[in-house]
Amino acid sequence: MGEFELIRNYFAAAPCAQPGEGVALGIGDDCALLSVAPGEQLAISTDTLVAGVHFPGVCDPFLLGQRALGVSASDLAAMGASPLAFTLALTLPDVSADWLEAFARGLNEMAQGCSMRLIGGDTTRGPLSLTVTVFGSVPTGQALTRSGARPGDLLCVGGPLGDGAGALPLVLNQRSTEASTTQVLLARYWSPQPQLGLGRALRGKATAALDISDGLLADCGHIALASGVRLQVERERLPMSGALLSFFGLEQARQAALAGGDDYVLAFTLPPSELDSLVSAGWPVSVVGRVVEGQGVALIDDQGQDITPLTRGYQHFRETP
Ligand code: ADP
Ligand code: MG
Repeated sequence: MGEFELIRNYFAAAPCAQPGEGVALGIGDDCALLSVAPGEQLAISTDTLVAGVHFPGVCDPFLLGQRALGVSASDLAAMGASPLAFTLALTLPDVSADWLEAFARGLNEMAQGCSMRLIGGDTTRGPLSLTVTVFGSVPTGQALTRSGARPGDLLCVGGPLGDGAGALPLVLNQRSTEASTTQVLLARYWSPQPQLGLGRALRGKATAALDISDGLLADCGHIALASGVRLQVERERLPMSGALLSFFGLEQARQAALAGGDDYVLAFTLPPSELDSLVSAGWPVSVVGRVVEGQGVALIDDQGQDITPLTRGYQHFRETP
């Protein structure tokens, strides 16, 4: 199968690659064309997943397709953007029709769940890697950046933390546990559900936001730095799933919630006056701390004692000490 046949059969023919709102021109020309409504800005983010680094080289291609788009779409959620479209740059060691068919099906399922259209990409030979670039739109000036947190704001998250890290020993076949726990944790890893609705609901309310990909403490550090404030995380308030607690136990579950990666849950800062309306509208909002004057991130226990650990999350290239 040649490159063009591959693109045509598995990607251009996918339901998510058909014409749709906001897409003036899709796959097949030198560029795709997006139409952005007046008064809207285009939000763009790109993520690369490399086999053996971000996912096991041997894995279910359907799940990989879901995950590749899910983690990228999560960046649109974190910005408060409405999803529009995405491109896929795919590097494959060889061409397997079964692999491509399952991968494209997984990608399509996530794309349709997120209302995003596949508008182009690139296909090359080499070690397995996937780069997804997502495009969304947001009313001018309303994007949720990392820089607006103010002392007095609450620090909130959009759901249970740590499940991504909890799933890792299962993904890597290092441990096993009962079927119901396995199912919950693996689903959270392989099919992350980008919090696109919550992101949009936070427009005009949250003062800063991001999606947690490297662990709560590490990612809160980005808000603290960009906003010039200190974030206090309260250990007793971390929301954790029953599946994670039963698999890991309380101590290790807390570790996963604080420093594990791959959660793709939103973390955001919110003036206290905005909390009730979000909660009564049914949005999942858990208060896990607050914003104070100062800098950096602190973890505090139920006595208010500082118990901040030294390592905070995953980094590909560590800072020199
Ligand atoms: P060019 O040589 O102009 O870069 P390509 O031959 O790489 O074009 O791709 C032809 C068309 O197919 C382009 O519209 C491109 O965006 C699209 N495309 C290539 N690979 C993929 C892919 N993996 N998924 C979706 N579209 C793709
Ligand atoms: Mg090309």
